[in-house]
Amino acid sequence: MTNKKNLYLNKPQFQAELDRCLNCKAEPCMHACPVGCNPREFIELAKAQKFDMAATSIMDKNILGQTCGLVCPDYFCMKACTRRHIDFPINIPGVQATILQNYREEKAAFSPIADNGLNLAVIGAGPAGLSAAAELAKSGCKVTLFEAENKIGGAVNLIPEDRLPRDVIEKDWAYVFNPERVTLKLNTTVTDIPALLSSYDAVIVAAGEHNVMGLRIKGDEYALSYIEYLKNPQNYQTTGRVAVIGGGNVAVDCALTAKAQGAASVEMFVRRRLADMRITEAEHLDLLRREIDVSPLTSPTEIVKDGDKYKLSVCKNKIVDGKAAALEGTTITLPAFDLIIKAVGSRADEKTEHEKIIYAGDCQTGGSTVVQAVASGRAAAKEILDRITKR
Ligand SMILES: Cc1cc2nc3c(=O)[nH]c(=O)nc-3n(C[C@H](O)[C@H](O)[C@H](O)COP(=O)(O)OP(=O)(O)OC[C@H]3O[C@@H](n4cnc5c(N)ncnc54)[C@H](O)[C@@H]3O)c2cc1C
Ligand code: SF4
Repeated sequence: MTNKKNLYLNKPQFQAELDRCLNCKAEPCMHACPVGCNPREFIELAKAQKFDMAATSIMDKNILGQTCGLVCPDYFCMKACTRRHIDFPINIPGVQATILQNYREEKAAFSPIADNGLNLAVIGAGPAGLSAAAELAKSGCKVTLFEAENKIGGAVNLIPEDRLPRDVIEKDWAYVFNPERVTLKLNTTVTDIPALLSSYDAVIVAAGEHNVMGLRIKGDEYALSYIEYLKNPQNYQTTGRVAVIGGGNVAVDCALTAKAQGAASVEMFVRRRLADMRITEAEHLDLLRREIDVSPLTSPTEIVKDGDKYKLSVCKNKIVDGKAAALEGTTITLPAFDLIIKAVGSRADEKTEHEKIIYAGDCQTGGSTVVQAVASGRAAAKEILDRITKR
């Protein structure tokens, strides 16, 4: 990748952010954080040079503290920061990531936990499954964590490496992983969820949303899914033209990655208006900086293979009653794309209704964020324990 960013704050930047904190007693940042991390507290501890305590304060609330420090969007703690009314909000995620990068021990100190005799299964080792497993382990359960892939992380592994180096989630997990309580089974796909109940007291499903939605147009099969693309972007490297269909943050990651991999031009086709794109301010700026063309109110209508290139037909839309509707007579055909990537969303598997099976993370809430998936996994662990211990 060529668009290298500074992921952590340097010493003067770090100190400046600590100094700017107003130490608000109402703690609006904490209330805005889905997992209840307390920036006021960890910033005060860092100001007092108590960095190990600052690191513990973060990790006690958020098992993926460093990951979240690098990828949390600006609409949680930063949006609530009082300092934004004076000049601009404190870069709380940056401070959080920097504390953990520079001052965290490799492993948490575990106090002895009394075994509660319960044995639970968790499906999926993405943020929600990891969080659920850690919470159950803290409560004294034995946990088996099943993961279909050969590594932990789930969709986090699709976040481009220039935003999130691959070893960060491993480092977060190594800190909280308690091998006496949690057995991690990689390369193990669970195909029959109810059958697990013959060996386990309950099951938490945190399987994410891995069924990529199609474009519902002729030639859909020529568009590469964002999952395939982002897993191994180097396999699809091109110096030619790339089209990305979709207008969310995943589509932005595809577009920026294609540009960083050397594409001469990258064009995003977005069904709705620019203002409707569900992306952060930083992502908007990245699109401008990296010279990605964005065509709003535009939908694909057909893809045709043309030798080793693809022709993409698109039409213009208008917004009627809040929905995008095609404008007749506006279809044009754009030739010579080397790669077309679809990033218009994905769906979870069908759910099984059962008192002892509970869902967490993106498969429960729809596409969200790492920090929300961590919160959801923790809540699911508490709820299932409540259910099975009140029998
Ligand atoms: C390209 C991209 C960029 C993103 N950028 C950001 C960002 O900047 N900030 C942010 O906060 N969030 C971001 N997200 C969203 C974030 O990654 C997800 O919200 C989060 O990973 C959801 O966690 P989860 O645990 O619910 O599901 P997932 O992370 O999808 O994990 C589900 C896991 O379950 C496993 N699994 C599925 N079925 C089975 C089975 N039958 N048996 C065993 N294992 C199974 C999967 O292999 C996977 O590892 C991004 C997502 C993508 C795709
Ligand atoms: S976990 Fe994310 S939202 Fe919560 S305080 Fe940290 S950076 Fe902010």
